[in-house]
Amino acid sequence: MEKRPGGAGSMADDSKPLNFIQQTINSDLEAGVVDKVVTRFPPEPNGYLHIGHAKSICLNFGLAQQYGGDCHLRFDDTNPEKEEDEYVQAIIEDVQWLGFQWSGDIRYASDYFGQLYEWAQYLIREGKAYVCELNAEQMREYRGTLTEPGKNSPFRDRPVEESLILLESMKNGDVDEGLMTLRAKIDMASPNVSLRDPVMYRVKKVPHHRTGDAWNIYPAYDFAHGQEDAIEGVSHSVCTLEFASNRPLYDWFIENLPVPATPHQYEFGRLNLNYSVTSKRKLKQLVDEGHVDGWNDPRMPTISGLRRRGVPAVAIRNFCDSLAVAKTDGMVDMSQLEHFIRDELNTNAPRAMTVMRPLKVVMTNLPEDHLEQLQAPMHPNLDMGNRTLPFTREIYIDQNDFKEEYSKKLNKKLSPGKRVRLRNGYVIEAIDFVKNDSGEVVQVNASLVPDTLGTDPADGVKPKGVVHWVSAQHCVDCDVYLYDRLFSDPLPDAGDKNFLDAINPDSLQILTGCKTEVGLTDAEAGQPYQFEREGYFCKDSKNSSAERLVFNQTIALRSTWVEA
Ligand code: ATP
Ligand code: MG
Repeated sequence: MEKRPGGAGSMADDSKPLNFIQQTINSDLEAGVVDKVVTRFPPEPNGYLHIGHAKSICLNFGLAQQYGGDCHLRFDDTNPEKEEDEYVQAIIEDVQWLGFQWSGDIRYASDYFGQLYEWAQYLIREGKAYVCELNAEQMREYRGTLTEPGKNSPFRDRPVEESLILLESMKNGDVDEGLMTLRAKIDMASPNVSLRDPVMYRVKKVPHHRTGDAWNIYPAYDFAHGQEDAIEGVSHSVCTLEFASNRPLYDWFIENLPVPATPHQYEFGRLNLNYSVTSKRKLKQLVDEGHVDGWNDPRMPTISGLRRRGVPAVAIRNFCDSLAVAKTDGMVDMSQLEHFIRDELNTNAPRAMTVMRPLKVVMTNLPEDHLEQLQAPMHPNLDMGNRTLPFTREIYIDQNDFKEEYSKKLNKKLSPGKRVRLRNGYVIEAIDFVKNDSGEVVQVNASLVPDTLGTDPADGVKPKGVVHWVSAQHCVDCDVYLYDRLFSDPLPDAGDKNFLDAINPDSLQILTGCKTEVGLTDAEAGQPYQFEREGYFCKDSKNSSAERLVFNQTIALRSTWVEA
């Protein structure tokens, strides 16, 4: 077992083997290469955060907590075309809701535009950058391929003064988009295509959500990210695997610029979840084309969707902590996330009863005005206290819990002459039933078996089943949104599949006229409950109002999916 750093800030879980980033940090600390661990989470504000981002958040903030260091929240806002303040606000809310707090102020790549520009001028003066006038297509031709080297741009050796002046004109808006770029002068024959004179700045005459129209050029990710890390003193810059081939470029800028620190980049495998897509572009398409009810639709794999659905933040953190931090991409089963959700909800969600498809039951041996206050535990963990259930002559049970005729196979149901126990209440016995003109059972007449609260009937005829119920006089109407997985294909966007074709047409089912306990009228939006025998639910933050109570299904009690 490797040695871990101790100290006040250390929250290392000694039961788990160290991942490769922790191993690197330990040896950096031991060798004195770094004395404080500083990480960052760098979202681009071009969409809402999804479950994949949660892995990166838990990793970066987790490392800072574990080693008593800092984690910065830095918006990677270098591409104004797709970025909006709405996304910035949503990301801030999601990170905090997940339970993390960044060190210091929120940072923005755009805070460093001035410094980056000076460093660009510095590289030009050093003979290590130049303004290039090849257009995008020519640039592609000159770049070469994986097997063939590229060719030098005809502008590569233009005088330093000329590049400085042209860069200034680009910045001031005197150059049209697409006509010029600033490029680093590295090596057009490098086997690593990232090093073939990469673009540092492009002309984009687009206003920026923070800097307005101050800039007409914007830095490329590669020219921005490492320098931002250096400015902020980031020690371990953790990103996903697709950036591995950019690492030599990250290092090249750090080596060739007078930066205040020497950060290093490490890449880990991104989280891919089956039955799901984790690309902001695709999630945005689902929203823009109206396939879902916004970024926070409870079926979306976004943090805001999971929150609206009633998934506790701790379940997401536990799931992320269970994932391997490895140097390969992996596919994780949706059922693994669902396991952590059920586990958390089973332990902590208070219990309630909601009848989804109400069927009236009249206890003919009780007086019309019968009202009894029954006590029921909030949870099997009795420390959570009791709730009161008003019990009256008329109650509702679920249509599925009644059968017109008794059958041995369905012997847990109520049927004429047969008994069931009302959950947290008495045993009742059905007498007969009433049908409407369409032949549907609309009322069951029953009798209450006396003295059966908490004990078996004195005549020894024990009920086989237990059913949930609510008082017909003391209940509230609600709508219940039942959700299933958004995609019915485990790999909706694999290969050249169109992920829209894989949308599960039955991913939302709306039940109206459901009946729930009066106590749930004031339920807090997002607070999960177990509706006994049905699953986990929470009040919906968007569709609930003073007139309408709406519950989202967070998850069923058990999975009905057979895993691939
Ligand atoms: P997308 O592909 O959804 O647009 P992105 O990588 O462009 O994602 P960013 O906003 O740049 O999104 O991501 C912020 C951070 O989150 C980055 O460090 C990125 O590597 C990480 N990240 C993004 N997606 C995942 C994922 N699926 N698994 C793990 N980390 C991720
Ligand atoms: Mg990105």
